[in-house]
Amino acid sequence: MGNKDSSEFNFSEALLVKNTEIYKNCTNIVIGKGNLNASILFVGEAPGRNEDLEGFPFVGAAGKNLDKLLLKVGLSMNDVYIANILKCRPPENRGPTDDEIKAHTPWLLKQIRDIRPKVICSLGNYATKFFLSGVNVDKMKDMPGITSVHGKVKMININDIEIKLIPLFHPAAIIYNRSLLGEWEKDIEIVKKEIGQKSLI
Ligand code: URA
Repeated sequence: MGNKDSSEFNFSEALLVKNTEIYKNCTNIVIGKGNLNASILFVGEAPGRNEDLEGFPFVGAAGKNLDKLLLKVGLSMNDVYIANILKCRPPENRGPTDDEIKAHTPWLLKQIRDIRPKVICSLGNYATKFFLSGVNVDKMKDMPGITSVHGKVKMININDIEIKLIPLFHPAAIIYNRSLLGEWEKDIEIVKKEIGQKSLI
């Protein structure tokens, strides 16, 4: 049984999600997975077909690639928490609309307040532009794309929490363009270094 109609989700951020059209067509609300005490929060775009059916993010092809990438650099699911910009699958996996991002990200911001990560790794363009814009959806279109900002550390402030944003290529993009793999591996070393530095303080 899915989580879609759970009465547990009656807080205001969840009600905003439940008011969107894509909620009506989804099987599950995809909230997140991983360690809620982790220092690293990965943020992807939106659930795909497999994520919608199973109720967890990154369980399809992109997720399998993310698992492999994390394993290769010595990180496990215990070191990270993984969520998405959208909590429901858009039809045919189309990109999120501005209205959907506005309705779904208050829940993501609540997760950030609860998890208090030291580092957010935005995966791909939507998540990166969302954070670079100062979580102002109307400004996202003016933000630089992932190709020019991946691996560049930027301090962001979310509800008075200082967080290092480190944009990474989306694991799905690496499946189609293997030449991005080397860049991803270099970028994730920056993430590990930032976490190491923080824990010495
Ligand atoms: N791509 C994403 O951005 N998120 C998922 O959960 C799955 C694929």
